[in-house]
Amino acid sequence: MSDARVLVVDDDEGVRRSLADALGNAGYEVREAAAAAAMRVVLADWLPDLLILDAVLPDADGVQLLPVLKADAATREVPVILIASRTPDEMTELALGLGAADVVRKPFRPRELVARVQAHLRVGATLRSVQAALRGAEEELDRVREDSENRRKLVDILHEVTGDLSSDEIYHILSRRVARALSLSRCSVILARPGDRVGVVATAFDNPALRNYEINLDAYPEIRAALEHGHPVLVEDLHTSPLYEDLRREWAANGTQVPIRSVIALPFTLGKVQAGVFFLRRMVDEPPLTNEDVEFADAVIKAAVAAIHRAQVIETTKADNARLEVLAHTDPLTQVLNRRALTVRLASELERARRYDSVITLLMVDLDHFKSVNDTHGHLVGDEVLREVATLLQNEIRSVDVVARYGGEEFVVVLPETSLVGATTFAERIREHVAATPFATTLVTGLTLTASIGVSSYPSTTINTVEDLFARADEALYRAKAEGRNRVCL
Ligand code: GH3
Ligand code: MG
Ligand code: MG
Repeated sequence: MSDARVLVVDDDEGVRRSLADALGNAGYEVREAAAAAAMRVVLADWLPDLLILDAVLPDADGVQLLPVLKADAATREVPVILIASRTPDEMTELALGLGAADVVRKPFRPRELVARVQAHLRVGATLRSVQAALRGAEEELDRVREDSENRRKLVDILHEVTGDLSSDEIYHILSRRVARALSLSRCSVILARPGDRVGVVATAFDNPALRNYEINLDAYPEIRAALEHGHPVLVEDLHTSPLYEDLRREWAANGTQVPIRSVIALPFTLGKVQAGVFFLRRMVDEPPLTNEDVEFADAVIKAAVAAIHRAQVIETTKADNARLEVLAHTDPLTQVLNRRALTVRLASELERARRYDSVITLLMVDLDHFKSVNDTHGHLVGDEVLREVATLLQNEIRSVDVVARYGGEEFVVVLPETSLVGATTFAERIREHVAATPFATTLVTGLTLTASIGVSSYPSTTINTVEDLFARADEALYRAKAEGRNRVCL
């Protein structure tokens, strides 16, 4: 990423320095501020492309600053990554609700934060281009509608659709607003592609129950024509229009009374995936729809489609982020925590144990002669056994305990608030359970195996760090193997 600007606001000099270094190395132009007041000074003549904001500042609460930044036209569009120290999840939700682009917890790795900054700036660039398109559409609107009454309505509509809404919500709001602006009793959005015989009602202002209802497009020649030619189709009076000649004959034959007078079908496409029409109608006792109405609705809808596209980009990005988050912490084979996530988790558990004078115990579980499972039955069976062992461990633990895959056929179980005695009983139960379980029964019969378990526990004279906990458990495991396997050692 090129010379994008990032402002780092944090009262911790160390955090500021390490972030400035990491961001500087990644090619960003970085400025720093140690407090909210200093941030305002920088913002007065240097607008960043992204802001990294500490949740707790000496002169302000970072979370409370969010609505202020979002209310200011100058900073509204600047994505804010909030840095929070050990926040509960509600705080994350609150911050996101107040307009933060992301929440990162301390301690964080500067490189990871740089990756997030890059991701947000990418989304930001997409948003800006969509917003530019919207502004263009707005100008277009100004040209097509001189009269001030309608301009006011248009601004309202545009304002409403640019919020952070899902596409469904936007369809709904749009059909409602277009209906109101043009005094229509009927307005809906029908999803369909050129040549389709059937369309789906995405939203219907006049009748919400019609949502997802399928309609036969044979009865709607203007919709088919609009989709086919990509232009709006206006039928001022379907009781005289040639387009409806065949249908009128059918109505006469069936004695059907049609209460609709005018219709407009306005086609739209959304990326490569979605297409359809906005479908506007007036009844026989209402004034007919005109070309002016077509122009008005078309301009509104063009602008709106840009907004919907934007909403879809945001939805996809959110889902991707959530998925990446889970992936980053999970072992793909067994779905338990991976080693990296385990180390992070263990560090905070150890810190907690230290602070509250409590205990924490770690079990290192290694399957015995696992290599021979692969050699005898193949890797697929080996993989299945690993999945089942992970599930077995997960079923044994309490909600505060943690299971992780430490390496190939080695698992770690972390037991907070559990002393060596309690943990040994637990380890013994796991050992017995593994030995008594037939594995991979859908693939082979009679496959059993055993596990050796090494146990370490904090506090202890030889354990100060996470590495010590791993090392002591590993030594105990080594003894369990040396003494004949299928046993628990301390
Ligand atoms: P020991 O009782 O001394 O622990 O013997 P072992 O065979 O279990 O130990 P060793 O470390 O010699 O071999 C571990 C084996 O685990 C070797 C490797 O093929 C297998 N393994 C590691 N990861 C995976 C995996 O993801 N899938 C499968 N199927 N096998 C794996
Ligand atoms: Mg082994
Ligand atoms: Mg091993």
